[in-house]
Amino acid sequence: MARFIFITGGVVSSLGKGLASAALGALLQARGFSVRLRKLDPYLNVDPGTMSPFEHGEVFVTDDGAETDLDLGHYERFTGVAARRTDSVSSGRIYSNVLEKERRGDYLGKTIQVIPHVTNEIKDWIRIGEDEADFMLCEIGGTVGDIEGLPFFEAIRQFAQEKPRGQCIFMHLTLLPYLKASGELKTKPTQHSVKELRSIGLAPDILLCRSERPIPEKERAKLALFCNVRPEAVIPALDLRSIYEAPLVYHQVGLDRAVLDAFGITPAPQPKLEKWEDVADRVYNPEGEVRVAIVGKYTQLEDAYKSIAEALTHGGMHNRVRVKAEWIDSEIFEREDPAPHLEKFDAILVPGGFGERGTEGKIRAAQFAREHRVPYFGICLGMQMAVIEAARNLAKVADAGSEEFDHEAGKKRFTPVVYHLKEWVEGNRTIQREADDDKGGTMRLGAYDAILKEGSKVAGIYGTTQISERHRHRYEVDLGYREPLEKQGLIFSGMSPDGKLPEIVELTDHPWYIGVQFHPELKSKPFAPHPLFADFIRAAVEQSRLV
Ligand code: GLN
Repeated sequence: MARFIFITGGVVSSLGKGLASAALGALLQARGFSVRLRKLDPYLNVDPGTMSPFEHGEVFVTDDGAETDLDLGHYERFTGVAARRTDSVSSGRIYSNVLEKERRGDYLGKTIQVIPHVTNEIKDWIRIGEDEADFMLCEIGGTVGDIEGLPFFEAIRQFAQEKPRGQCIFMHLTLLPYLKASGELKTKPTQHSVKELRSIGLAPDILLCRSERPIPEKERAKLALFCNVRPEAVIPALDLRSIYEAPLVYHQVGLDRAVLDAFGITPAPQPKLEKWEDVADRVYNPEGEVRVAIVGKYTQLEDAYKSIAEALTHGGMHNRVRVKAEWIDSEIFEREDPAPHLEKFDAILVPGGFGERGTEGKIRAAQFAREHRVPYFGICLGMQMAVIEAARNLAKVADAGSEEFDHEAGKKRFTPVVYHLKEWVEGNRTIQREADDDKGGTMRLGAYDAILKEGSKVAGIYGTTQISERHRHRYEVDLGYREPLEKQGLIFSGMSPDGKLPEIVELTDHPWYIGVQFHPELKSKPFAPHPLFADFIRAAVEQSRLV
């Protein structure tokens, strides 16, 4: 049966709980244990699928088609364990399950209350798949003291009570602010945060303390004393040069040791850290640099494209170069010539996106890359933009566009080269959608297979003709334009197994011009870069040698 590690946060948000959890997962794996990581989010949205990226960063999609929190991306990147629908839950989902049961009469007329009905629902969720891993790491979103978080804190308290002694531990991530005036790291906010936790019945076993400076022994002892934690379980977490050194650094400061001690696992198996040493070596010792322009809409907020930024870094690590990614607002290209902006880059990437705003600029970026033979990687909307560009400028469909933009505008203005997909096959069932379906969870979501054309560029890059990648989109390139586009050299080199849905397009007469309808960035890992990102950066390195 799994052991449970509950990870909570205190003092302030954005301390990197997700990263700390992911790094701890990687360290437990390095010691030979299997892990599964899970995120419990107190917000009331049923899932993050309908949230703007400005609200909550990227939506991470799992193989089984759930739209989840971006922390699940960290978990996967560090552990390589594919996340599932059941690894992410919000208050909204919990309440919606409870209310559904109430409507069905499952509670036999009882009064429905937070305790026990909501807390039971949370505990049931935590239990899912508990026999499948040695450790389950459950991160509670937000910080202790948040009103929305209370049912989750109460549920994990009950959960630990119900399990045999020693099967659950609590790790609390806090901040030790540094006061310049007195030259000290202050422990009081942490003391208060732990006090808050204890007032709701939770006592942390491990304190992970974010701080800008090394924590003096005196402060560590003080924290241990006032927070009732063993001194060796007060773990300093200083700022990192790269997130990919987190497993090595947390190991050096004794995090995994403290966790195993808290469970009484002695002697602990020795960790094998070679994988992470290689990753760190590639991050710290690049042999060159390439510049990649990411032309998109949510450029002020890097978290909106978190997995893309990470996948580019992985591609750089594979080629032993540093990738300098710059975010450019595509709307600029609707007013100005893209050339002066894009000339200095070794490669251009147009990521996924929704809505018409900025799309004409993305189309111009795709045109620039095609005409100037600069490596171009179009992801989801970025592929659709490349196809529209080629349809307009090569296949002479002057008003080519996407139905998405017509829908938004409420009138028909384009010839839809990209249309609204309303029926498709998933495994052995047919999925149907209506134009006015709910916005949440109704896209073509999750892993779908694709067949690659023998001898195509992508088949060479993947080294196979059968792939599976994750999707998240409503619109699809119209197969009706295959012939005129292929005549112009934009070939459909990846198709759904039934041959109906274009999955990949590539330009035959271009160093690297590939559009994919899926999101390869979601499956890239530092120790296993996604082949498309690895090869895209290889092409960028080549491009950088040309100029
Ligand atoms: N908006 C486009 C669609 O729904 C692309 C989505 C995306 O880039 N993820 O098809």
